[in-house]
Parts: sequence; structure tokens; C-alpha cells
Amino acid sequence: MNPPHAVIAGAGIGGLCTSLSLALRGWRVSLYEKAKVLEETGAGLQLSPNASAILGKLGVIERLTPFALRPKAIRIRRARDGATLALMPLDEAERRWGAPYLVVHRADLQRALLEAIAREPSIRLQTGAAVAGFATGEDSVAIAVEQGAVRRKAAADCLIGADGVRSFVRQRLGADSARFSGWTAWRAAVDAAHAPPAMRREEITLWLGPNAHLVHYPLRGGAIINSVAIVDEDFRPGGADFWSGAGAPEFLEARFSSWDATARELLRAAPDWRKWPLFDCHPIARWVAGRVALIGDAAHPMLPFLAQGAAQAIEDAGVLGEVLTRGQNIETSLRAYQEARCPRAARVQKESRRQAKIYHLAGPAALLRDTTLRALGPQKMLARYDWLYDARNARGHEG
Ligand SMILES: Cc1cc2nc3c(=O)[nH]c(=O)nc-3n(C[C@H](O)[C@H](O)[C@H](O)COP(=O)(O)OP(=O)(O)OC[C@H]3O[C@@H](n4cnc5c(N)ncnc54)[C@H](O)[C@@H]3O)c2cc1C
Repeated sequence: MNPPHAVIAGAGIGGLCTSLSLALRGWRVSLYEKAKVLEETGAGLQLSPNASAILGKLGVIERLTPFALRPKAIRIRRARDGATLALMPLDEAERRWGAPYLVVHRADLQRALLEAIAREPSIRLQTGAAVAGFATGEDSVAIAVEQGAVRRKAAADCLIGADGVRSFVRQRLGADSARFSGWTAWRAAVDAAHAPPAMRREEITLWLGPNAHLVHYPLRGGAIINSVAIVDEDFRPGGADFWSGAGAPEFLEARFSSWDATARELLRAAPDWRKWPLFDCHPIARWVAGRVALIGDAAHPMLPFLAQGAAQAIEDAGVLGEVLTRGQNIETSLRAYQEARCPRAARVQKESRRQAKIYHLAGPAALLRDTTLRALGPQKMLARYDWLYDARNARGHEG
């Protein structure tokens, strides 16, 4: 009997992980990527235990570990004077949540996934090929793929839309599109030799200021400091600006002028900044229509305030692999995927939005937040994230 065949639209982290997850369960996968070349912009990625556990099951973690760093803690600092408001230790992450908390360079994760895919003869990756139409029938899905001026047809047992925040598949299923949130993320990789010593600590540091926050952590054995500044900004993304563009450092200098000197030193040390508009969307309850399903940013676009977009895409990939091997009818399996994943991803979307408000508080509300954070202590801080990071919850059964 021929193995079942899936077409996946999009070779981002979600599409790559889903290809592996299905291939490991005996599926044949055609993975189409619109871009001609798989490039990875934006340097760093936090991979919380709920995601690293699944990468372990996909056989990717061994390839990734030599390039990954296990941060010792998450430190929260006050922008005005650099005071530490909270310290969440991560050295017990693996024992507590069942898998390590990692930070990696996106290019290293992508390479590890592509190497694993290259070893799977049942996965065929084609770049420069966009999924441009589909019609779901009783026994299969008919898919139109565009390669330059050529449009050809493919047939599969199911179509997985892993095509990101501006998903074509999502749009065709009639779901709301993500909208610009009013926040922009400024990203830079700073040579550690030029960064203030406090920033070379093996920690994820989060600075909270009025209407802005800054995150940084070391990557690649501490050679670079991945830095992301998020600010509210009146910005109209469109055309070439939609994804990312060069950001003027003077803008950040002015926005962070009242911040502690160490934070400003890091901002000045960045050779260049790239600016990304951030998109957000209300959770939707329908990711599946017949033999078509959405995953990753296409299913649940979210703000990066919990650092969970890729982690949730990886969870989707893990669950899809599990449900599609149970020998059930494909539509039923995809509905089981939706039931398992929708409530959890919706919670992460909502919590990310709530976190955005808390991070960017100003005035007396910020003072109250800081006092609360200081009073929490490490154990309560850890407990606040059990629902999210515990690898056992990654299947959507959190309590
Ligand atoms: C500033 C910032 C920091 C972040 N930090 C973290 C973090 O620390 N941890 C974390 O877990 N997440 C983080 N995220 C979120 C994370 O980057 C995304 O959620 C994740 O990359 C989404 O992966 P995806 O595969 O769903 O989509 P994408 O990466 O967008 O991939 C979609 C792919 O589909 C392709 N495509 C589009 N249309 C078609 C089509 N019609 N046919 C074929 N291919 C198509 C695109 O070219 C693209 O390659 C961050 C995001 C931002 C903006």
C-alpha cells in the first residue's frame, strides 16, 4: 500500500518540523516553499522546554545542542536604574519541566532541521514553489503550485498550511487576518566583545520600561548578544517594509534616553538594527476544514511577549504527527488535532497579549507591577510558567 501523502505549504520552523513529524510516522511529504532561498533573518530564538522536548522526539536536539546555550536564569530589570526585580532560575528547568530551556541562533535550528530532512527520503522540499490554490474533495485534496510562470497540479491526502502570519491557506479558509499591533520589534546581533560585561552573563535579561522593553541573551558560545527592543510605534507596514527593514538607531536612542546607562550602552553597540512590525490576531476556533489544516503562525499569530510563536508551531507539528498515525480517517484525525491544540494556543495568544500590557506599564501601575515582581521570589516565578513550559502540557492537556 502506498504511504499517505501530505502537502505542506511553507518551510518555516512549523513546516520543517511537521514534515519531519509526519515522515517519521511513515508519511510521504511534499514541502513547498514560496521563497527561492531559505534565509533566516533575526538572530535569536528562545526554545522553552515544551518545544525542546518535541525537537528531541524529532531527532533534532542532538544536532542542535552543540550550538545551543542553556541560560542559567531569566533576569527582569527595571529600565530606569537597572535594578533586578526578579530572577527566575533555569538550571532546574529540565528536572521541573522535562526538557531543557535553550537559546539558539535561528540559522542553527534551521540547519539542524534541514539536515534531518535531508536524511528522510520521503520528504521532498521544493523552494521557489508557492501553494496558490486548493480544493478539498472526499478522498484527496487537489493543490495548485506555482513555480515562476508555471502552474501545476498536485494531489495529496491532506494539505497543511504552514505559510505564516500572512497565510494564503488561512485566508482561503475564510479566517480573519492578523493586523499590525502598534508595536515594532528592533533586532540586532551585537559582538559580545563590544557589549557591557553584565550582558555577557549566560542569562536571558528582560528590561521593563514605559511603553518599551528590551530582551538580550548570548548566543553561539557567548560570541554574540542577541538583542530585541520592542516599542510602540506609529508605523504603517506595507510593500517591501512588511517584513523587516533597516531601523534608524537615533529613534531607539531617543526612545531609550531615560534608561539605565548599561542598557543604552548595548543599544549603541549594535552595528545595525532591523525593524519588524508585530502582528496580532484574536484566536480562531477553526483551523481545519476537511483535509486542510493550519499550523504555526498561520493558525495562531501571536505577539512575541512570551517567546512562544515558534514553540507553539513545534507543538502543532508534534500533535499532528501523533494524530495522523492512529489509522483513523484523515478528517477525524485533523479534527482531533484541532481539539487538542486550539484551546492551548488560544491561551498562549491571550497571555502574550496580556504580557504585552504588563511589560509596557508606566507610572503608578508600573510601580505596583515592580513591587509584585519583587515579592514573588524564584519559586513562585517558576510556578507561574508550569502550565506553559511543562513538556507534558505540550499535547494540549494542561490542567
Ligand atoms: C521579534 C520576534 C521574536 C521572536 N522570538 C521568539 C522566541 O524567542 N521563541 C519563539 O518560540 N518564537 C519567537 N518568535 C515567533 C516565531 O519567530 C514565529 O512564530 C515562527 O517563526 C513562526 O513559524 P511558522 O513556520 O509558523 O511561520 P514562518 O516562519 O513565517 O514560515 C512561513 C513560511 O511559509 C512560506 N510561505 C508563505 N506563503 C506560502 C505559500 N503560499 N506557499 C508556500 N510557502 C509559503 C514563507 O515564505 C515562510 O517561509 C518571535 C517573533 C518575533 C517577531
